[in-house]
Amino acid sequence: MDDTDTDERTQMLARVRVVLVGTSHAGNIGGAARAMKNMGLTRLVLAGPAVAFPHPEATWRAVQAADLLESAVVTRDLAEAVADCTLVIGTSARERRIQLPQVSPRGLGTLLADSRADEEVALVFGREDSGLSNEELRLCHWHVHIPTSAAYSSLNLAAAVQILCYELRVACLERAPAKTVLPEWDEPLATVEGVERFYVHLEETLAEIGFLKPTAPRQLMTRLRRLFNRVRLDQMELNILRGMLTEIQKSVRGGPRT
Ligand code: SAH
Repeated sequence: MDDTDTDERTQMLARVRVVLVGTSHAGNIGGAARAMKNMGLTRLVLAGPAVAFPHPEATWRAVQAADLLESAVVTRDLAEAVADCTLVIGTSARERRIQLPQVSPRGLGTLLADSRADEEVALVFGREDSGLSNEELRLCHWHVHIPTSAAYSSLNLAAAVQILCYELRVACLERAPAKTVLPEWDEPLATVEGVERFYVHLEETLAEIGFLKPTAPRQLMTRLRRLFNRVRLDQMELNILRGMLTEIQKSVRGGPRT
């Protein structure tokens, strides 16, 4: 049997990486790899795994998806795992105080189908015991929750990976190809790494001008992150914003203006 997926409709799955954050059970890593390969996804990233990897139990659970484990990328943390992405979707079984824009599992497929052909997309899963931290969720543009019974809402990690990868596959199979949100945009979109550097610069500048009080930050950065993450910033826009911050800093520091 041919083991490559040649269906053109599912090609866009190649732009999706599945990121498992802080996984503590090796079996779940193998189970996730199998779930992915069954659905035509191949790129697995382990961000700060809490278990030794490679691990025989992961290989055992992956069965014929052991190749995904061999090519899996291990990173220090989530920020490193998604640094070059422009679209990051976090998953969670919990509600948060400051909500991120929510997308349904079915809507997730549409989001991917509507993304640009050059976008790197990450689907991020949390720890078995505590999910994703608020800081990790802040790196995400969207938040997806699989509607489960209130009596027991938390799915097994590999089962959650299975459901969302299935939704992505079905969305690919059912949609007409090549409809994009920004069809003729003239600039590449900003990456997570670039936007994260902007947030550091913004926070620093807001503190310097006294708008951000380090003793009473009032969720300011969380809200500003949400604001900017709702917009698909491109690299030129990011450069403009960074340039503005630099001038503001020069002005408050009283140095020469350029
Ligand atoms: N007690 C944790 C549960 C983590 S379950 C919590 O409250 O967050 C491990 C991971 O599986 C989650 O981080 C998420 O990535 C995924 N997951 C489990 N149930 C889910 C659901 N209903 N919707 C979306 N993702 C879910």
